[in-house]
Amino acid sequence: MEKHGPPIIQINDVRKSFRAADGRERPVLEGVDFTLREGEIVALLGQSGSGKSTLLRIMAGLIGVDSGNVQYRGQPLYGPARAISMVFQSFALFPWLTVQQNVELGLEARGIAREERAQRAEAAISLIGLSGFEGALPRELSGGMRQRVGIARALVTQPDVLLMDEAFSALDVLTGERLRDDILELWTQGGMPTKAMLVVSHNIEEAVLMADRILIFASDPGRIRTQLSINLPRPRIADSADVRSLID
Ligand code: ADP
Ligand code: MG
Repeated sequence: MEKHGPPIIQINDVRKSFRAADGRERPVLEGVDFTLREGEIVALLGQSGSGKSTLLRIMAGLIGVDSGNVQYRGQPLYGPARAISMVFQSFALFPWLTVQQNVELGLEARGIAREERAQRAEAAISLIGLSGFEGALPRELSGGMRQRVGIARALVTQPDVLLMDEAFSALDVLTGERLRDDILELWTQGGMPTKAMLVVSHNIEEAVLMADRILIFASDPGRIRTQLSINLPRPRIADSADVRSLID
């Protein structure tokens, strides 16, 4: 069993409802408990609508909870924290901004000199393999490259935690696999500042290849139902047959 470090994010008994079109409160998370520790990659699987993105947004400090606790390194999490970055399925780039400008947006302008912002953005762009494309606009890039921009923007703050919300699912299979493998290679080589990753997926094979631990979200009620630990060495090279034998 791989050893993991102290908790980075701790979630206790988190509940969250949304008001549906008929005006009723619809519970999405009904008492979720979860701890993300240093050194681990956790995959979160679950049906569409089961609350995975909601949980990630809560962990990123983008939305609040109705009740329960969310802690980052032992302190309550209020609002977005620079130490926690998110990568979105839809890339979420500004189409009228260049690669460089999109990545610099990851840094709040305040307090960081222009030159340092540029340097940090260039470093993140280079880390993810996009050097030379700093001046390009998103529409001039392939889908895989656009998502690399999304990842560079997430990494530019040197986050402790990277939350990836179906980051590969808008890409064609080979492009998604290449990007995933690049990220895993950076992770295994210690090339990333990030200490833990939470990866939302609905691809079981992807979850098995990436994660030390897989959580499965039950949609009704909105709770984490099953936890499965994967104990394979990294880097992990497996074909579908290996993966299936793990699941069966
Ligand atoms: P998943 O990522 O697992 O597909 P989500 O967390 O996106 O699930 O959504 C869970 C449920 O919460 C869905 O029924 C969705 O429609 C609802 N929901 C999510 N965000 C909002 C919102 N801002 N307002 C109203 N309902 C929402
Ligand atoms: Mg989602």
